[in-house]
Amino acid sequence: MTLCVQQALSQAQAQGLTRLDAEMLLLHALSQSSQARAWLLTHEFQVLDQTQIEQFQTFTQRRLNLEPVAYILGYKEFFGLTLYINNQVLDPRPDTETLVIWALDTLDTALSSKSNTPRAVMDLGTGSGAVALAIQHARPDVHVQALDCSAAALELAQLNAQQLNLNVKFRQGSWLDGVHETFDLIVSNPPYIPLGDAHLTSLRHEPALALVSGKDGLHAIKQIVSSAAACLKPGGWLLLEHGFDQAPTTRHLLAEAGFEYVQSRKDLAGIERCSGGQKAQPKLVQ
Ligand code: GLN
Repeated sequence: MTLCVQQALSQAQAQGLTRLDAEMLLLHALSQSSQARAWLLTHEFQVLDQTQIEQFQTFTQRRLNLEPVAYILGYKEFFGLTLYINNQVLDPRPDTETLVIWALDTLDTALSSKSNTPRAVMDLGTGSGAVALAIQHARPDVHVQALDCSAAALELAQLNAQQLNLNVKFRQGSWLDGVHETFDLIVSNPPYIPLGDAHLTSLRHEPALALVSGKDGLHAIKQIVSSAAACLKPGGWLLLEHGFDQAPTTRHLLAEAGFEYVQSRKDLAGIERCSGGQKAQPKLVQ
């Protein structure tokens, strides 16, 4: 059987893949970079050899079985960085760029500082390191730390940091347990899907630890909100990603914990995807 580029793409689409996924997987089977999509257009009639056909078919089957493209390729672009990704960590979503943009805005505005003391940032449940590394890359002047309870995730995050030559300090831990320093900014994309949620079937390849958080999906968010103030400097900010319907509850939890300027930000789909607030500062007495 001979198969050319154009036919391979059509076959995969007929089986149910999107055009984009088919192109990414075919480039991978041909040992080309995912940046080379234009190459496919100029080589429509290039014939695949047997090994390439078999590789592409294997990748197609894995994708049809709902494995994230990032796991098949072994990497993913996030906020302009290329990160190694494997099935020990969440596949970084474009939605999470909302959290990074908000963190960077906060460092630029509310936390902008003329002093020489660098701002300290902590990323909780860092996974591949995506959020921490994106912040550190955009703001080399800031001290970023990140933690995760999974040793396998930390190993990958560390590898990403080395590869990108970014000096993030990683440590193992469960949320803020045992963290005694204080930070100017704490960010997190914690697990937030309720146990037994229908979504989880299609997310079955990703680690449950990074996705599921108790019956209501709020277990980790509650834990972080209730412990964050003790690890924030006065005037410091806590910014959290959460589920599509969790913004009102998260704002309520933040307000109850004494955070001020509690607000939410929308993701690219227009959904309130992150909520956060500022730890109260001592008021000036007039
Ligand atoms: N945003 C992911 C999803 O719903 C979940 C990520 C998470 O739990 N932090 O597919």
